[in-house]
Amino acid sequence: MNHEPRQQPGNLGIDADALWSDILTTAQYGATAKGGIRRLALSEEDRQVRDWFVRTCTALGATVHADSMGIQFARVPGTDDSLPPIAIGSHLDTQPTGGKFDGIIGVLGGIAVLRALHETGRKTRHPIEIVNWTNEEGSRFAPAMLCSGVFAKVFDEDYANSRADRDGIRFDTALRSIDAAGKEKCGEHPLAAYFELHIEQGPILEAEERVIGIVTGVQGMRWYEVTISGRDSHAGTTPMSMRNDALQAATRLMSSVQDIALNRAPNAVGTVGLVEVRPNSRNVVPGEVFFTVDFRDPQDSNVVAMENAFRDRAATLSREFDVSIGISEIWDSPAVHFDGGLVDSVARAARSLNFPAREIVSGAGHDAAYVARVAPTTMIFVPCAGGLSHNEAESASREDVAAGANVLLRAVLEADERLNA
Ligand SMILES: [Zn+2]
Repeated sequence: MNHEPRQQPGNLGIDADALWSDILTTAQYGATAKGGIRRLALSEEDRQVRDWFVRTCTALGATVHADSMGIQFARVPGTDDSLPPIAIGSHLDTQPTGGKFDGIIGVLGGIAVLRALHETGRKTRHPIEIVNWTNEEGSRFAPAMLCSGVFAKVFDEDYANSRADRDGIRFDTALRSIDAAGKEKCGEHPLAAYFELHIEQGPILEAEERVIGIVTGVQGMRWYEVTISGRDSHAGTTPMSMRNDALQAATRLMSSVQDIALNRAPNAVGTVGLVEVRPNSRNVVPGEVFFTVDFRDPQDSNVVAMENAFRDRAATLSREFDVSIGISEIWDSPAVHFDGGLVDSVARAARSLNFPAREIVSGAGHDAAYVARVAPTTMIFVPCAGGLSHNEAESASREDVAAGANVLLRAVLEADERLNA
């Protein structure tokens, strides 16, 4: 299918070749043997891509600074520079075995908009800012979207700084180690609007042969950390009746996550993604298990119901196995509804460019979910092959990414005319 926009006089388009080239260039920072990226937040690889962001945006006439959480802003002035900026962004950090597109096309799509403006000399009324949110993935420093969360006053800065990775390295220590923080206090940065282009990370657009997802909101989600404490004891000499086996309680509680989500089909999802067993020795009854739980549903009431069912099951297993079970909720992200005016701008942009589009609710968390609390916000999705994401084989076509960036450009220009008019 040919999705090249029909060029009309006065209609800007993004440079699809330059955008694709930026994708391949940034993919080198933390490149893995399997064609993916390992670029954990505030790692050396993250420092490299941040430096690339500064160089690239500066060459396109932008001024780049970072705030106290290391969030990067690349700004070009507007003709009325007293207006708050229209921001476009996403994240450049990845999962440990991440792909080349998740988050990245949101930042690079913003850079493509910047390039289109720069090369044609087109001025906007509002300043335009490209944003790289720090630590979106949450795989090094949980929870996800940590710094857009600080920006939107969901988390305070002390909490974010105290988050530590599995090696015990604190967020603020990691931030200092790559010199990523700037002087501006995080969140003291009003935005007129925020746009985020992203791969769908699910299979719907591809299955329906749509090029553009007009994202109306984000489903609700909660993350938990579970610690089950029993007693380490000798695997040969401790009778079955006298054990406090944390792992046996854990396997049952973990499998309940699956059942709880299936009970609320088809929209609810529940996942145990990280497990640690201590002492993890073949002839010791395990005394402690740590695991994580992720529950999501488009309706907040369903997420609450899933949590309640999970806590009930934990209480029962705690008695049955004579172990203590601690559940801490480390993240609560209520369902989000994006700004109707901006959602309509995206729909109109997709229509005017003749891209097949549909409305969609995001199944994944995004920085936009938090930014929506402090600024009119929306997102644009493009398909990814097989719906695969958080995987080194994650793939999106050059044509679809360019289509998303062209919709982004057009929606931004329309918002620039309409807002604060
Ligand atoms: Zn992402």
